[in-house]
Amino acid sequence: MADATNWVGSRLLLRRLRDVMAGADDAQSRLDQVVTIIARDMVAEVCSIYLLRPGDILELFATEGLLKTAVHRTRLRVGEGLVGDVAAHARSLSLDEAQDHPQFAYRPETGEEIYHSFLGVPILRGGRVRGVLTIQNQSRRNYTEEEIETLETVAMVLAELIAGSELASPNEFTAADGIALKPLRLEGARLNGGLAMGKAVIHERRTKISQVVAEDPATELDRFDEAVQRMHRALDEMMEEVGGQRAGEEHMEVLEAYRMFAEDRGWLTRIREGIRSGLSADASVAKALSDTRARMAQITDPYLRERILDIEDLAYRLLQHLHEGEEGAEGEERRRLRKGRKTVLVARSLGPAELLDYGRGSVQAVVLEEGSATAHVSIVARSLGIPVIGQVAGLLDKVEPDDDMLIDGDNAVVVIRPGEDVQQTFAEGMEQGVRRQAVYTAARDLPAVTRDGVEVSLNLNAGLLLDLPSLREANAAGIGLYRTEILFMVRGELPGVDEQTRAYRRVMDQADGKRVVFRTLDAGGDKLLPYMPVAREENPAMGWRAIRMTLDRPFMLRQQLRALIRAVAGRRLDVMFPMVAEVTEFVAAREILDLELARANERGEPLPREIAVGCMLEVPSLLFQLPQLLARVDFLAVGSNDLMQFLYASDRGNIAVSERYDILSAGSLRMLREVVREADAAGVPVSVCGEMAGRPLEAMALVGLGFRSLSMAASSIGPARLMIRSLDAARLSGFIDSALVGTAPSLRNVLCNYARDHDLRV
Ligand code: PEP
Ligand code: MG
Repeated sequence: MADATNWVGSRLLLRRLRDVMAGADDAQSRLDQVVTIIARDMVAEVCSIYLLRPGDILELFATEGLLKTAVHRTRLRVGEGLVGDVAAHARSLSLDEAQDHPQFAYRPETGEEIYHSFLGVPILRGGRVRGVLTIQNQSRRNYTEEEIETLETVAMVLAELIAGSELASPNEFTAADGIALKPLRLEGARLNGGLAMGKAVIHERRTKISQVVAEDPATELDRFDEAVQRMHRALDEMMEEVGGQRAGEEHMEVLEAYRMFAEDRGWLTRIREGIRSGLSADASVAKALSDTRARMAQITDPYLRERILDIEDLAYRLLQHLHEGEEGAEGEERRRLRKGRKTVLVARSLGPAELLDYGRGSVQAVVLEEGSATAHVSIVARSLGIPVIGQVAGLLDKVEPDDDMLIDGDNAVVVIRPGEDVQQTFAEGMEQGVRRQAVYTAARDLPAVTRDGVEVSLNLNAGLLLDLPSLREANAAGIGLYRTEILFMVRGELPGVDEQTRAYRRVMDQADGKRVVFRTLDAGGDKLLPYMPVAREENPAMGWRAIRMTLDRPFMLRQQLRALIRAVAGRRLDVMFPMVAEVTEFVAAREILDLELARANERGEPLPREIAVGCMLEVPSLLFQLPQLLARVDFLAVGSNDLMQFLYASDRGNIAVSERYDILSAGSLRMLREVVREADAAGVPVSVCGEMAGRPLEAMALVGLGFRSLSMAASSIGPARLMIRSLDAARLSGFIDSALVGTAPSLRNVLCNYARDHDLRV
């Protein structure tokens, strides 16, 4: 960070810029003055401002040093040239020799060939790139960290000043031209299923900054600290309120994690430093926000992105608290919104607390430009029964307030401004869905037994307390897979033994005597823990994850198993290990469990009444160690998601290949049949807990292959129950055996026809 002299320097520069922008000159001459001031202050021969025009074009708006005739003539596409590169990645670019860079695009009209070094920073506002600010020098020089930081601060201030001027006409700063007021169908990612319809409400976050430069940093710091206090108090109040409601504990988990980010010192320190360097508190929060957005563009890991989204959400909250009076007015607006009208919330991203701000009544669905299934907002939405679609590209440019919207969360499709006939069909579809749900509910207490008397145990996949009410609602036999990593990922630090014990105890208590299979931590790879730095990996799915990580860091496994033993406190313990590739890994993990049992015994703590230790079958190498493995495990759980991706060498997260190989192919079905046969022969219970178990046709095939235990998401249990009750398992088994003799690559069609011919409910 800049030292005291630099703060003073940048403070003066910021003030000068503010004065120019607030002056009476027209917009063009103000920008002309701005580039001159920046060039002089930063000792650069060139300073240029490129602003984003409709169609993703960056136009040179003002320059000091390049030929003036190039202004409004030089245009680059986002992604083109160095300037386009800065805009495309929302990232600063510093080069001592610009012309050596592969992206360099020579524009003769600018006369820039004599300049060698280049520093470009994005002009970001509200998380979007609005332009690019550059400086250039004739000498080959490396810009220092401080210079980069200063230019970024200047760009941020410029963004605000431009937004507050006539330069920010919609034509220049949004893609308003592209809005077609006709029906549109957009696809995204399913974050929470379900159907809904309503009127669009664009979720606005406070981005207006009343003042950019602080007159007196000390007063401004006080103002900031007060706002932070107010924000913490408000979050505490929200947590108290939520704590009193149903499923409150789950909300609490999410909010507690969120509250921890609110106290994250690194984040607050950065904002304070910005204020000391001359920004107003608003502007410094906005700058932290822009930095966060820029960092976000570099991160592909969904969990890390979530953490960053939390910080972003908090920054907006903080902006509100800096303007408390106005915040009240906004809150009032939202409360009014709640009443009566069916609303579809449309946002770039949404924090969990923001969704709760809207209350329970009116929000029917949430559609986001960003967001992932593990987003905290998805978790909260799930508890409220609200469908959520995320990753809808260009959403905000296409939706207008009050547009009619249809949300098909199951298929991740949004229809904007549907025609009347489409609305009608959709409404009928919703009614049908309600009727179907009623059929599942009515069949809830019927046993999952086939027509020829084969009982199939239907279990729930869970990872949050929030999932537990489904155990009763769907009448599942138990929890076949409890993904413990979610507890580790929503926190800012490794949860200690006590915290883990509390969490697992709550799961056991809520399961109310039903079996819960806890899977030990499956983190690493792409499920990064924010507090555990790991090296970048080429192939994270095959990297240092799950049992590999916890065997290398045995204290983690010991603490988790200790917490499980304590949480179980005399009840039965079911635990399994993920991503085991060698029998010896299972043996080593089991030894750690034995150590912890001995420790508990020595301390006189209650031991589990019964213990079952299982192994997940996710790595194909285990297929060739089954006899040795089966001799040592109490149960086996097939993690078909990972097993398939490794068997077919096709990344489950890459849609270009994830659907390429059919799980109902002869190869995988033969493999699964062999697994059941060997497990049966060894007398070891075997289940499937990957996604395939939750799809009716696949579940049917699994029962036909001999699986008698399946674990799936809550919404799949009703359909699976009806499918099983319509099935003759022995007949299907014979059919599959004969079909597997042939050479058909996939049995999907054959099984579909079989289901249709036998009136099976798939
Ligand atoms: C699996 O791999 O099938 C599985 C159930 O584990 P996860 O999806 O959590 O990797
Ligand atoms: Mg897995």
